[in-house]
Amino acid sequence: MTVATPLPIMEHTNPFESMMSRFDIAAKMIGLDDDTYNMLRSPAKQVIVNLPVTMDNGSIRVFEGFRVVHNINLGPGKGGIRYAMDVDLNEVKALAAWMTWKTAVVNIPFGGAKGGIKCDPRSMSKGELERLTRAYTSALSDVFGPEKDIPAPDMGTGQQEMAWLMDEFSKIKGYSSPAVVTGKPLVLGGSKGRVEATGRGVMVTARSAMNRLKINPQTSTAAVQGFGNVGSISAKLLATQGIKIVAISDVSGAYYNSSGIDVQDAMNYAEMNNRSLEGYVHAEKISNEELLTLDVDVLVPAALQDQIGAHNAGRIRAKLIVEGANGPTMASADDILDENGIMVVPDILANAGGVTVSYFEWVQNRLGYYWTEERVNRRADRTMKEAFDTVYQTAQKYQTNMRIAAYIVAIEKVANTQKLRGGF
Ligand code: GLU
Repeated sequence: MTVATPLPIMEHTNPFESMMSRFDIAAKMIGLDDDTYNMLRSPAKQVIVNLPVTMDNGSIRVFEGFRVVHNINLGPGKGGIRYAMDVDLNEVKALAAWMTWKTAVVNIPFGGAKGGIKCDPRSMSKGELERLTRAYTSALSDVFGPEKDIPAPDMGTGQQEMAWLMDEFSKIKGYSSPAVVTGKPLVLGGSKGRVEATGRGVMVTARSAMNRLKINPQTSTAAVQGFGNVGSISAKLLATQGIKIVAISDVSGAYYNSSGIDVQDAMNYAEMNNRSLEGYVHAEKISNEELLTLDVDVLVPAALQDQIGAHNAGRIRAKLIVEGANGPTMASADDILDENGIMVVPDILANAGGVTVSYFEWVQNRLGYYWTEERVNRRADRTMKEAFDTVYQTAQKYQTNMRIAAYIVAIEKVANTQKLRGGF
């Protein structure tokens, strides 16, 4: 098969190419044929919309919105919506493809999609965000649908945006359609356990990996980068396992305490402090780079993409990296981490707990019957454990790392459905 020339080591890779460079390695290992390779490489649908929104001062601003449906072989498109200034088509394309692999790795009947709006949600009022979300939903009302493409929260969005999206979509269709979106507030058909689901999956896969590496949680330490939904809940749940959280961080900087940080206390502090850890006194302030290279057992990058690359991978001292964020490790770091014997539980496995419980939410909406939190967690934990074991066994079989193994599991599944479904 023909694969793209491997990327040179560089620190600012295009996210889609960064994803594809791993895809290419996995595709080559399983001997994927050229036709399937080309089909899986190309996103099924890419939509760009311009959204005129009346701002509070009466002026009209035009925002750029995106939705990419990468693949629908396994089921309807599924994936979050990101509100951030650096959103662009390339990033959304990469994130949509990651969703295709992620849903396949955890074996749920969805394809992959992703959306985003180039905006700075922190500088916008609630009214402006509502109008923007409704404009986006209206512009994409033919793309979205419970059987077509189902959005969810991602960076910069949460339950409130999902409630507006569901409301706007339902008004356009003329009937209530809760299953069009997941991550909704509980009273509007959200699932118990969805808010914690991604962090919980990070904890469950971290535990599975620690078991394999024979790291005893009771005597181990972790550093968690990012203190949004994924970072804070991952830190809190890792601490419940006896793991000492020695460092946390957010946009205001990183915070270190060798005797351990009380995560709930830090969460309460951030909640009272405009969602920021700025000024947190129960820890010493360190730089983000220092957090990444601390002498800990477990490192959880749960902030932005492209945090670990050739420039710092050689200085990472953790034995295990569990990727809470999407794409925190650049392709340029992969070989260095392998050579240093660091196990990486890749994003498409480690943070798949969120979309797993999104699937449960969609199932509950369609049944009109709601599960207990205990049932949601039990099923999500089982899904994550099974996915970890499958990827681990695949890594052994192909003598490769966990990331490439996860891609192998995903590509094989999606490629098989491609053959069964056929084409024109
Ligand atoms: N945005 C989350 C992710 O990247 C959740 C997606 C979903 O639940 O559809 O996995």
